[in-house]
Amino acid sequence: MLFGALEAGGTKMVMAVGDEKGNILEQKSLPTLTPEETVPELLSYFSKKEICALGIGAFGPVDVNPQSKSFGHILDTPKLAWKNYNLYGAFQEKLGIPIGFDTDVNSSCLGEITFGQAGNLNSVVYLTIGTGIGAGIYVNGKLLHGMLHPEGGHIMITRHPEDSFEGCCPYHGGCLEGMAAGPAIEKRWGKRAAELEQESAVWELEAYYIAQALTNYILILSPEKIILGGGVMHQKQLFPLIREQVKKMLNGYINTKEISSLDQYIVPASLKDNQGILGCLQLAKLEYEQQVKYVQ
Ligand SMILES: [Zn+2]
Repeated sequence: MLFGALEAGGTKMVMAVGDEKGNILEQKSLPTLTPEETVPELLSYFSKKEICALGIGAFGPVDVNPQSKSFGHILDTPKLAWKNYNLYGAFQEKLGIPIGFDTDVNSSCLGEITFGQAGNLNSVVYLTIGTGIGAGIYVNGKLLHGMLHPEGGHIMITRHPEDSFEGCCPYHGGCLEGMAAGPAIEKRWGKRAAELEQESAVWELEAYYIAQALTNYILILSPEKIILGGGVMHQKQLFPLIREQVKKMLNGYINTKEISSLDQYIVPASLKDNQGILGCLQLAKLEYEQQVKYVQ
C-alpha cells in the first residue's frame, strides 16, 4: 500500500511516495512560490501516483482543527500570497483520498516517534532551528493541538547581558526565533551560521537562548525526550553547550533519570533530515486507517 507525503515548507515543498513501513520510494522538491504557481505542480505529481492517502505537514500558522470552517487553511503568514489559502481543500478537491493534515514541526515530531529514536515514548518535544524556529509537541501519546497549535518558537526569553542585538522577529523582536534562528545569527554576526563554525562566542550565545527555551519546555511539558533538528543544529558543537546550560538553568530542581543523562535526553534528529517527510507519510497512514475504520 502506497502513501503520499507533502512537507509544505515556507521555502520549499518536498513531496514523496512511500509505504507504511517508512520506505521512501521517490522524493522530489520544488521552491515554494505562490499557490497559483506551486500547487498545480504538486497536484499533478500526486494525481499520477497510486496512493491511498496523503499526509501534509504545513508551514504555519495553519488551522489544524477538523471542526473549524477554516480547517487546512494557512492563516496569518508573512508570506502574503499564502494568507488564508485553503491548502487542504485544494488537495481534497483534486485527489479525493483521505488527507492527514498537521503542522510541519508536528509532522517531524511524529516522524521521529514512528521511525526514529522516540518510538516507545509518550511525550516528546521536537524543536527545529533553521530559517525560523518551531516546536512539534507530542503529549500523552498524541500530537498537541489546542485553540491553534503550539508556537514554541516565539516564546519570550531573557536577553544575555552582553548581547545588544535587538532581535529580528517581525512580531516580537527578541523572541526565541528573533534571537536564535538562522537569520538572527547572520544579522548579529554579519555572516551565515555555517561560516561561523569556529567562533565559540557565537555558539555559547546560541546555546544560552536555546537552553532557556528547552528549560521552559521541560518545566511545562515534562517531555521524555527533546529532539533538535533544522539547519542550525547541524552545528554539532552546540549540543554539549546546550546541555550544560540546561543543567545550569534547572539548577538541580528536577532530578529524574532523563535529566541525569542529558546526552540521551537532548539529542539531534536521527532521520537524516527526513523526519518531516516521514512524519507526513505517517499522517497519511493514520488518516487512512481512521477513515477505513469509520467506514467499517
Ligand atoms: Zn516572534
